[in-house]
Amino acid sequence: MKIGIIDADLLDNGTRHPNLACEKISGFYKDQGNDVKLITNYNEVDDYDKVFISKVFDFTKVPIDVFDKKRYPHIELGGTGFFWRDSPDLPYEIEHHMPDYHLYDEFIGQEIARGIKPLKFKDYIDYSIGFTTRGCFRKCSFCVNEKFDHVFRHAHVEEFLDKTRKCIYLWDDNVLGYAKWREVFDELNETGKPFQFRQGLDMRLMTEEKAKVLSSSKYHGDYIFAFDHIEERDIIEEKLKIWQKHSSQIAKLYVLCGYDSQDEVDIANTFERVKILMKHHCLPYIMRHEYYLKSKYRGIYVTLARWCNQPSFFKKKSFREYCEANQEYHKNPNTLCAALSTMREFEHDHPDIAAKYFDMKWDYLGETPTQESDDFNDEREWKDDWQMDTPANNYIHNVEGKVK
Ligand code: SF4
Repeated sequence: MKIGIIDADLLDNGTRHPNLACEKISGFYKDQGNDVKLITNYNEVDDYDKVFISKVFDFTKVPIDVFDKKRYPHIELGGTGFFWRDSPDLPYEIEHHMPDYHLYDEFIGQEIARGIKPLKFKDYIDYSIGFTTRGCFRKCSFCVNEKFDHVFRHAHVEEFLDKTRKCIYLWDDNVLGYAKWREVFDELNETGKPFQFRQGLDMRLMTEEKAKVLSSSKYHGDYIFAFDHIEERDIIEEKLKIWQKHSSQIAKLYVLCGYDSQDEVDIANTFERVKILMKHHCLPYIMRHEYYLKSKYRGIYVTLARWCNQPSFFKKKSFREYCEANQEYHKNPNTLCAALSTMREFEHDHPDIAAKYFDMKWDYLGETPTQESDDFNDEREWKDDWQMDTPANNYIHNVEGKVK
């Protein structure tokens, strides 16, 4: 058969990550002797006997009516972008097939030929990709994993390891919540290859043993955790202290906002989490849930994210200084830039919150100086990894990035 595969997210805005399901489908059908190709234009779907379309993000646009079964009887759909929590699982033999890491080769070649930097495709080229575990027990209402009640083993590393590739990255949902987590880390370390978990690791589950194993692993890039709820401040602070006994690298934590509410209460508790992370010399990464768009203060959410998510600004300037610095680059000196005007508006309405948080600075609050990882210690890399990316994970598609 002539089989076409469409990575719908790639064809809309593009992502930095290959679609793992597409790679597994390709690997399986190629092994069966089929002619498999990545389709990069929807006009070509009728040229194939069978077409698989995968979509991770619900905001990804698909220009043809793929749900019209009469018109497109040969198209099969999958992914959270189409079905959210009801997305059908891949058949076992495909799910556990070695991904075809060369599915995107032709596309990448064309992109590089038209001037796109090869660095953009490092996730396609340098990594073996997979899940060692799946599931989670926390049941966060914004997460596709709400349907699970535990973490379970999904695959052994050898199932998706391409020994010719430099590194490994994992999409596990909550590996630290897996009872035999140690087994997973032993397997990963035995490969001798640097690895990283791309979803935020669950800091609340940190123990001395986990901190020791994780910090002494051949870990690639930053250790990224999550701090989603201010109510968890005590446990996060307690566990951060355990972590920092074992690691001198600056930890990065996702800070979800705009989800529980979109008012000054949510904004204050987001600033409070930022303050706590500053105190521990960690870096926050603000994740705005799409509900933030309902907020009267959505400009504050945007500015807060821009300040925090660029460590080079965050480490040197207070929120107020960051907004004022924006004004210096504003084209019309007779008007206020968006950052400064939104900051002033919020300060006018809530002077108590502004007084508490707008002038706090990394230098003043940090108590435990640590060093950054070698891999992501400059803004360019940070941006590459976080900002210039569309959301990366396969379950939270209405949050602007990855989150635990
Ligand atoms: S967001 Fe993270 S901690 Fe919450 S249910 Fe999903 S995987 Fe678990």
